[in-house]
Amino acid sequence: MKKILFVTHAAHYGGAELFLRDIVVHAKQTGRHWPVVFLDDGPLVQDLIDAGSDARTVKAGAQILRLKRGSSIRAVVSALIGIFAVVGALIRAFRGVDVVCANSQKSLFLAGLAARLARKPFVWILHDLVTDSSFSPTMRRALVFFANHMTSHVVTNSLAARDALIECGGRADSISVVYNGFDFAADVPAASDTDRGSVLQEAGLPDLPTVGLFGRIATWKGQHVLIEAVERVPGLQALVVGDATYQDSAYFDRIRALVEQKHLSDRVKFLGFRKDVRRLMAAVDIVAHTSIDPEPFGRVIVEGLALGRPVVATRGGGVGEIIDHGTTGLLYPPGDGVALAEALRSLLSDRAMAARLAADGRSTVTARFSIERSVQDLDRVFDGL
Ligand code: UDP
Repeated sequence: MKKILFVTHAAHYGGAELFLRDIVVHAKQTGRHWPVVFLDDGPLVQDLIDAGSDARTVKAGAQILRLKRGSSIRAVVSALIGIFAVVGALIRAFRGVDVVCANSQKSLFLAGLAARLARKPFVWILHDLVTDSSFSPTMRRALVFFANHMTSHVVTNSLAARDALIECGGRADSISVVYNGFDFAADVPAASDTDRGSVLQEAGLPDLPTVGLFGRIATWKGQHVLIEAVERVPGLQALVVGDATYQDSAYFDRIRALVEQKHLSDRVKFLGFRKDVRRLMAAVDIVAHTSIDPEPFGRVIVEGLALGRPVVATRGGGVGEIIDHGTTGLLYPPGDGVALAEALRSLLSDRAMAARLAADGRSTVTARFSIERSVQDLDRVFDGL
């Protein structure tokens, strides 16, 4: 069996990092040894260690991670010294390893250089749509250059992410799609009424129809669209779960103010970042997804469907690879609060239709997005190098 080493820059709880956590933990449970090197500290390092996996941090990475567009010469010089230190540390970490696999953009650059110097096959897992307007043209060119010239193979988390890379100049012949995989059997909470009652009570809500929205609080995740929709559906209340990254705390302030302004404080509750997402999802009537930019994949959609919830999600990106509109969920145009309100109303008024969508959604996602399949798909990529 080949020795694989994963490198990733962030150790916080984002979709890409949770993907990595799940595959590494499953790899461990099935006799594979997939260690991870993080370029920054965070809670995921300890989580993996607690799960019996091999995880550690190459500390010098932080100097580079802090570098910003307006940084002083002194900061740039110290970052350059930092780059040499990290690349040196990574080369040492690569000893005895057969394949190096980067799980993020920053690790693509740093581990890519180190893997080239250490002459190791190098795989990059891309979790984004590089056509996304949040990438500067320079960054896009750098990503495509590294993808085409520094990797042995690229893995994307959806067909949409693959097509976006190709559209920007990525080589089509060395890309494989590996979907996020989920351990559906593990820690699925019982969706009992008692649990629903306790979740709503904790949130300070009565036992009324409730929609849940899960994910980072960020402008492009579109939490404001749900607030607009809830206002239009009398009797509907919402749980908004997730926290802002430091860049987006102003957006979080804005949507809290929006809730106040619309007099929805008794119907819309913010729960912050939660580790018990599955328990909360099992307690709501509908799971909503509101991203206003195309979603590269959308783990929360799979998680909601796997728990037997009807899901209403925005059209675009990788979402269409999970939901077939009208069969396994409902899709609506990004940013359209009126259409979201209409979809929510139809799910609440036609419970039989909602149950049918939820049941079909559940059987589809559990068949297509298992953790076993993701790990086997990655195995195939590594074995082919
Ligand atoms: N999540 C979580 N706690 C929260 C909010 C979100 O654990 O409070 C998890 C969620 O269950 C999902 C992931 O974060 O597994 C988000 O992944 P997704 O692909 O939906 O979005 P991304 O963060 O990658 O943009």
